[in-house]
Amino acid sequence: MPIMNGDTVYMFLCKICNFGEECLCRLYKILSWTDLVHLIVFNLTLKSKRQFHSLASEIMPYVEETWKAFQPRPEWLGMTPNLRRAKVIFT
Ligand SMILES: [Zn+2]
Repeated sequence: MPIMNGDTVYMFLCKICNFGEECLCRLYKILSWTDLVHLIVFNLTLKSKRQFHSLASEIMPYVEETWKAFQPRPEWLGMTPNLRRAKVIFT
């Protein structure tokens, strides 16, 4: 899975250090909601080339469209859109 722009919550091991196979792993245990929302808004800002976004018409549709690409923690994957929206609002 490609890394999103600005994502620093992953680990890369080259094939020399990882016994012949490159490894690009999400650091799930240190990924916070704040990290994730920051990444989402940062990538939306790059995409739209604007600094401010509407929660209802831009941020949440973008979250729903790209959710898995941001590699959220496995326990967050099953969240309902309403719960995601609440988490984004209160982050
Ligand atoms: Zn290396």
